[in-house]
Amino acid sequence: MIIGLTGGIASGKSTACSILQDLNIPIVDADIIARQITEPNHPILQKLAESFGDDILINGTLDRSILRQKAFASSKNIKLLNSITHPAIHQLILSALANSKTNQYTVLCAPLLFENNLDKLCDITWLIDADPELQVARIMQRDQCDEQTAYNIVNSQLPSQEKRLRADIIIRNNAILNDFKQSILNQHTHILKGLSHDQN
Ligand code: ATP
Repeated sequence: MIIGLTGGIASGKSTACSILQDLNIPIVDADIIARQITEPNHPILQKLAESFGDDILINGTLDRSILRQKAFASSKNIKLLNSITHPAIHQLILSALANSKTNQYTVLCAPLLFENNLDKLCDITWLIDADPELQVARIMQRDQCDEQTAYNIVNSQLPSQEKRLRADIIIRNNAILNDFKQSILNQHTHILKGLSHDQN
């Protein structure tokens, strides 16, 4: 069984994944896979440099904040970034899911699960949902960026409203971490009950 886990930036996806990882649930993380294709000398990194300029590279290594600034400067640039990276990421995700061995479930964590139709690979989807003001505050604190950049990133994403319509389960993350952890554990228990019911 594959659960697609998604949510806006800084909504709490990684936090949710680390809670699940502690329960030995295998995680396929689209962000980690995305990083693999931007390792030094990777052909996809070369394509990015051709499209966005060599200044995204410092001694052959991707400067993520420069690429982010350039990519989020316009919707055209976001599309360009996606057209270069997404097909390669999709392939790597498919093989990671195929190689995941578990008798419980595997989580596919992907910020752009719906936008890239990765939900089609999943049996159920979970949306981690936080209020935009909290997303902005968490981005500013975590990434040390200014408020305007944080809002630009949040506003460039598919609105939460739309994701809520597409998700099977919505897990709110507007309160303290302990409450969030409990919500994740509740969903985990619910899935395991369903799996054991199916097996009986
Ligand atoms: P991204 O899309 O950027 O990868 P994400 O959705 O994985 O982000 P996290 O990294 O899990 O989000 O959370 C963003 C930041 O907010 C982290 O610094 C995390 O520790 C913090 N955070 C998450 N949930 C809470 C919470 N309930 N209370 C306080 N801080 C939180």
